[in-house]
Amino acid sequence: MKESSDIQITLALSKGRIFEETMPLLAEAGIQVMENPEKSRKLIIPTSSPNLRLLILRASDVPTYVQYGAADLGIAGKDVLIEHSAQHPGSLYQPIDLNIAKCKLSVAVRKDFNYVNAVKQGARLRVATKYVKLTREYFATKGVYVDIIKLYGSMELAPLVGLADAIVDVVSTGDTLRVNGLVPVEDIMQISSRLVVNRASLKNRGDKLKPLMDAFYKASN
Ligand code: AMP
Repeated sequence: MKESSDIQITLALSKGRIFEETMPLLAEAGIQVMENPEKSRKLIIPTSSPNLRLLILRASDVPTYVQYGAADLGIAGKDVLIEHSAQHPGSLYQPIDLNIAKCKLSVAVRKDFNYVNAVKQGARLRVATKYVKLTREYFATKGVYVDIIKLYGSMELAPLVGLADAIVDVVSTGDTLRVNGLVPVEDIMQISSRLVVNRASLKNRGDKLKPLMDAFYKASN
């Protein structure tokens, strides 16, 4: 077992779909992950390569760990990366769309809310989301006035209890909207997860990172 200071590459990612869909990409590079973060509570997970370890983080923290060099590489959704870049423009190198964890960023409302009419009449809408930058830009482009309410999770609840008229959230199967009596009314953008790289790591240790970056590229294109 190597000391953590000997580990050459640290890859940050989140549990759930991103972790599950990254495993086959690592497998194509001949790398197996030694523990399942859904079962183990460990936040640092070794792999079959003594030179690679994984950090299991909340999705929105992945860009921060990579930006500050606590991880050399990270995997995060386009939604998360756009929001991060609003605060820290140009802080991450984003070389590869991995084409995993695909979903859409959508506007959704209660089934009984007439969104089209509200927009047509120029109503000022209250929109709950964790994607403040994307939401502000989207409605500004449409010329719709919105008050944005920043939430950190369970956005679907907001229209049900009168906190918001609409939400902006990522939608995959649409099941979560459906069981909560919401319907999607507009798609803002397609989302997939991308590889991000710490700029200093790339400059100073690019030779160590390149084989894994190449393997990710091959496995995802
Ligand atoms: P679904 O019910 O399949 O439409 O999934 C929607 C729920 O899962 C929402 O609460 C989302 O926040 C979350 N979700 C779905 N797909 C993704 C993804 N690719 N990345 C992050 N969150 C997702």
